[in-house]
Order: sequence, then C-alpha cells, then structure tokens
Amino acid sequence: MTEWSASIQNAGSAANWQEKLRISLQGMQWSKVIEPIADKLANGDRLSIEDGMVLYNHSNLSEVGMLANIVKHSRFDKNVFFNSNVHINQTNICVLACRFCAFRRSKKQSDAYALTIEEYIKEMDKFAEYIDEVHSVGGLHPDWDVEFYVSLITAAKEKYPKISIKALTAVEIKHLSNQSNITFSETLERLKNAGLDSLPGGGAEILNDEIREIICKGKESSEEYLEIHRQAHLQGMPSNCTMLFGTIEKIEDRLEHMDKLRKLADESLMLQCFVPYPFLPDSSRLPQAQLATANEILRTIAVSRLMLDSIPHIKAYRMNIGDEVAELALHYGADDIDGTVRQESIMHLAGAKSSLNYGSYQLAKLVKDAGFSPVKRNTIYTMFNEFEIVPPKRVRRLSVIQN
Ligand code: SF4
Repeated sequence: MTEWSASIQNAGSAANWQEKLRISLQGMQWSKVIEPIADKLANGDRLSIEDGMVLYNHSNLSEVGMLANIVKHSRFDKNVFFNSNVHINQTNICVLACRFCAFRRSKKQSDAYALTIEEYIKEMDKFAEYIDEVHSVGGLHPDWDVEFYVSLITAAKEKYPKISIKALTAVEIKHLSNQSNITFSETLERLKNAGLDSLPGGGAEILNDEIREIICKGKESSEEYLEIHRQAHLQGMPSNCTMLFGTIEKIEDRLEHMDKLRKLADESLMLQCFVPYPFLPDSSRLPQAQLATANEILRTIAVSRLMLDSIPHIKAYRMNIGDEVAELALHYGADDIDGTVRQESIMHLAGAKSSLNYGSYQLAKLVKDAGFSPVKRNTIYTMFNEFEIVPPKRVRRLSVIQN
C-alpha cells in the first residue's frame, strides 16, 4: 500500500500538474465556445468571471465536465480522497434564524439541546475507534463563550489526542469573539492553543451582503467570513470553504463568490477544500428558492474546479447531494468525497436522504465503482494512504439442529 505526505500548501497536488494539464489539453478538440477557455487553462491563466458565465451557459454540460475532469486528473490522477470522520453538532440552540436553516431551535423549544462537555465526550467515545476527525458545528448558543469551547476542546484532546478537531464555522468564531469581547484573532489563538486543528467552511452561504441580508440576516458579513479564515491561516490553521447555492442568488453571484475565495486562497494557499452544496428546498423555508437539479449541481462542481485554481480540493458532499450524484460529481472535477460521517443532523433535518454510518470499506467501494482509486487522507491533506478494499469479514454461523 502506498503512503505519501505533502505540505499544507501543496495538499497532495502533483508537483508538475500544470505541465500535465497543458499536454492533456493540447491533445483535445474543443467546441468554439470552450476552446479559448481551454487555451487559458493550458497557459496557466486564471479564468475570468465572464469565462465562468460561458461555462454556466454552455449547452453541452458533458464538455464542461470533461474540461473539469482533465484539470482534476492532471492534479490528482485517479485518486479520490476521503477521511474517516464523525459529525457531532454540539447544540441546535441559536440566537439567529437563517431562512434556509432547518436545524436551529430557540432555547424554549422542546427538542432544543446543548451537550455538556461530558455528553460531547461520550458521543466521541461511540466512534473513536473508527475515526480520525471530529467535525463539530452548531448553533450560536446565547450562554457559551470562548471559555466553554476552550474547556470542550481541551477535554476532547486530552482523551483523544490523535483525533483531529475541525470545528466552529466563521459565524461561530464571530459569536464567541462577541460573547468574550475579544478579537477574532485572540479567539482563534485561544482555541488553537486548546487543540483546535482546523476550521470547516460552513457559513459562507453566498458572499454577497445584499443576499445575506435576506437569507441569513445577522450572520457575519462577507468580509468578516474572509477575515476570520485569513486570521486562522495566519495562525497556521488551514480551513475549508463552502457555497450554498440555489437560494435566491444569480449565477454572477456564485462566480463572484468563487472569485473572493480564490483571492483569499492566493494569500496563504491554506483554503484547502471548496464544498459547494445546493439548498434542499421545502415548502416552509425560502419558498422563492430555485430547485437545484442534478445538472445544476454537476455544472457547479465542474465550474468550481475550473475557476478555483488556488484551492486544490473540490468536495462531492454526499451528505447533501446523495451518493448517486456524488459518484457522478467525481467525473465532473470533484476529487474528494465526504466522508464516512457516521452521524449528521444539519443536512438530514433539511431533507437529505444520504446513508449515514458508512465504514471506510463502503465509501472506498463507492469511489472504486465510480472508476477511481480511493485514498484515505488526514483532515488537512498532508498524509495520504492508498486504500485497499477488503470486504469486512462476515461471521458464518453454523446451523444447529435442535431436537
Ligand atoms: S445556519 Fe447556523 S447561524 Fe443560521 S440559524 Fe442555523 S444554526 Fe443559526
């Protein structure tokens, strides 16, 4: 089994991937619309927002997907990355009420909960044998400040020093900094010293303040989202970033969102993974939302791969888009699939139907069946392990004849 390592900045990309890309693109025939974009990619030039519009409007989705797949293949070959993780959502009590959110509760609602530190550790106990990462995001609890999270993370790290803690979205960092009356930078420093390893990307939604005012009033502004991630990077903590699409935004807004993220990534090369996921509509939340079809999801994944040249990994977030579309997404530029997960609330309360509690074997098999090579990674994409697919052993029971 092959194992290899990488720096945080390189995050597992092939060293000569731009040269491989140039050679692969030169051997292809493209339509007149796509040819100038393929030429830019071959020359290592960044695509413009206008190029992104062309890709979104091009009628031949397969051609857009093929272009994205060539970029992915040049960078990561047939590898598709995954890790073994669990989602523990520490509380659903939240002082905000974002219009797309099916998860939050007010303190008085009967199904509101807030885990104590002991309960949080008990949740970890259930999965610790199988996981190398705990992913924790939750509501903005009115009584919790940075001290609470320092104690929580310290306790988790004391018991499980080898489990990587990826926790707290930008809006949670902002909330803790307000609660404790300290800067973003001080908040992050205290959490890092307690054992926080990296930040997830949640809370980006669409980085346009007019849209945010409608769909998530009171959340961090676009600039605050970027600044919190910037501060995390300055302290040596890598992070992911996301995009919630299919609410009320226009295509231009999605492309502006990607542009802001790639410019932030240029500064540190520590935005490691982009996770685009569609709003899952229902009749009660945001009735004016668009319906994200499979075509729309696959196109957005492909455009992300092509636009985000300074963010190495594009995730097929199967929790949200389901296993079937996630498998297809691997042919449209995604190189990462999340994850074994084990348990998850936020997407499932919003209507997701994807299977939980996958073992590494099932997830690796999904990757293999899609035609790729499963590679187990650590949280921050610095350690990689080619994954050998060995079906779990079944216990054969002998039938016993009873008289
Ligand atoms: S998305 Fe996050 S901040 Fe917004 S209401 Fe839900 S839990 Fe609260």
